[in-house]
Amino acid sequence: MNTLNKMKVLTDSAQYDLCDYVNHNKSSQINMPGIYHTKGANGCEIPLFKTLLSNKCKNDCKYCINQNKNNFTRLEFNPEELARVFLSYYNNNYVNGLFLSSGIGDDEDSTMEKTIETIRILRKKYEYDDYIHLKIVPGASKDSIKRAMSLANRVSLNIEAATPSGLEELSSTKDYNKDILKRLSWINSLEGKNDTYPNLTHTTQLIVGANNETDREILNRMEKLYKKSNLKRTYFSAFSPIEGTDFENKKECDVNRTSKLYNADSLLNDYNFKLKELVFDESDKLSLEEDPKILAARKMNIFPIEINKSPYKDLIRVPGIGVKSARKIINIRKKNLFENKKDLKKVGVVVNRAEPYIKLKGQEQRSLDKY
Ligand code: SF4
Repeated sequence: MNTLNKMKVLTDSAQYDLCDYVNHNKSSQINMPGIYHTKGANGCEIPLFKTLLSNKCKNDCKYCINQNKNNFTRLEFNPEELARVFLSYYNNNYVNGLFLSSGIGDDEDSTMEKTIETIRILRKKYEYDDYIHLKIVPGASKDSIKRAMSLANRVSLNIEAATPSGLEELSSTKDYNKDILKRLSWINSLEGKNDTYPNLTHTTQLIVGANNETDREILNRMEKLYKKSNLKRTYFSAFSPIEGTDFENKKECDVNRTSKLYNADSLLNDYNFKLKELVFDESDKLSLEEDPKILAARKMNIFPIEINKSPYKDLIRVPGIGVKSARKIINIRKKNLFENKKDLKKVGVVVNRAEPYIKLKGQEQRSLDKY
């Protein structure tokens, strides 16, 4: 199998990994396999080369085409070959970075060795110093995780499910506590101990709708992880059945569900909400129609709050006030009090959402009853 054919297959198989804001729908202007677009911190689109090193896998994840029982020709790059393929993209300005993942071949550590060797060749032999996101495989040794983290800008390990029983519905070959949670805690303990890439971050991905887990169970897991670790963020992948897998006839997940999970997850991660502040229905689901922040605000008894006096923790609970605008409000009001809605608009507040929940110099802006 020549390199181009491997590229077509292995870059296509990498599309299911979301741990980098990757936009799968955007077609690249350059018609070459493996180019996916991610969003940078300032919102601009960044093209990445995204691929599996190998689609050999000993695991039996029921949603994945690479599950062990599937009988098709398995492919694998060798590390030098993959490093050169990537550099040919990078040096031609087709992409700005690499996202490297892999199926788990014979065992976890030999798979990790090959991915580490690929990025070691890039860093040391070819002196490539730009972005690398490396996937850590479940069950990897602490030593291999440590070495991977000394070469990458970002690592991720897919949690896949929120509970051990949820993972059992998806796979019989992965142990939730041992292979995933324990490894995530190692990644966390190693983060920040790397002189070469001190700003390395880690993320995770969870598949939504492939098992029976509720939104409350999912967000409960996320709350625990954010509390205990520096996990940067979670990607929610809406389950979509793939022909040729055990789950090929399973119903696909409504993307509206993952969109609401993202909203609620951001409240936990970025706004320091507690799980108990969120609103679930009797089946422990989030509303598919309404914004979780507005639903949470409706059951709080702190509103309306005074913009010119309220602490940060209350300001960020107002729908329409984000983390950045709350910080700006606190800085500006030290010198100048906020007089009217125009002042709020200037700092990025979405006034028509915020006005039922705020007072300006003692004046309510819109009655909650009319909202
Ligand atoms: S570990 Fe599971 S999800 Fe990953 S490639 Fe193997 S079968 Fe697919």
